[in-house]
Amino acid sequence: MPKPLIAGNWKMNGSRAALAEVDAIAAAAERANGVDVAICPPFTLIEPAVRKVEGTPVAIGGQDCHWAEKGAYTGWTSCAMLVEAGARLVIVGHSERRQYAHETDEEVRRKAEAAIAAGLTAIVCVGETEAERDAGEAEAVVARQLRGSLPTDGAERLVVAYEPVWAIGTGRTASCDDVAAIHAAIRRDLRAILGDAAGAQVRILYGGSVNAGNAAELLAVADVDGALVGGASLTAAAFVPIVEAAAAQG
Ligand code: PEP
Repeated sequence: MPKPLIAGNWKMNGSRAALAEVDAIAAAAERANGVDVAICPPFTLIEPAVRKVEGTPVAIGGQDCHWAEKGAYTGWTSCAMLVEAGARLVIVGHSERRQYAHETDEEVRRKAEAAIAAGLTAIVCVGETEAERDAGEAEAVVARQLRGSLPTDGAERLVVAYEPVWAIGTGRTASCDDVAAIHAAIRRDLRAILGDAAGAQVRILYGGSVNAGNAAELLAVADVDGALVGGASLTAAAFVPIVEAAAAQG
């Protein structure tokens, strides 16, 4: 079984003062054997966050990147820039970027390829909207996103996050049965796209209103190899119990 990863996505939240939370998260991560822990703060906090976690097992990541190495792309950040700032991973294709920045599967794939080529771990997000789930299309939507968004090389630095859009930031989570069904389908798709051995190793995270109260049961579902956590990653008090729940499964 792949080592679980608990990754926090701070979105457009946080400040230098909030980096005190990273100290407390890093202290907890040192005690959480067998779990990888990451925090993805806004770009401006990556470098100071990296300094905070030096010598600890916590990795710092970005929330987006561009596929080009450099150039006339106002407002974007390249993977090389993330690496220079000390990031070790990057989230690509988060539903908020797919929705508000109109990112396509093709763009997400190019970002993931660039991230992996730069030595970063790419967390590729997929997930259906509520209308798509109600129409019985959840599995088909996720399969289509995977086919379009996944790089076919560098599986050792690839993570997939299944995040049903309707569960993000809403306090609603998918049922364990629904999570099990989609994660099993993702595992099958990963094996088909990447080959059997590589597809078996890629971690599949669940994301969508994960918190201290529901983490243990979600992390116990087959093929759930960790969690991508938004709101509950902003404070150590909310995030550390999720890391501990992952450690307890080991
Ligand atoms: C996310 O944005 O990736 C996320 C899962 O958010 P939340 O945990 O707040 O639902």
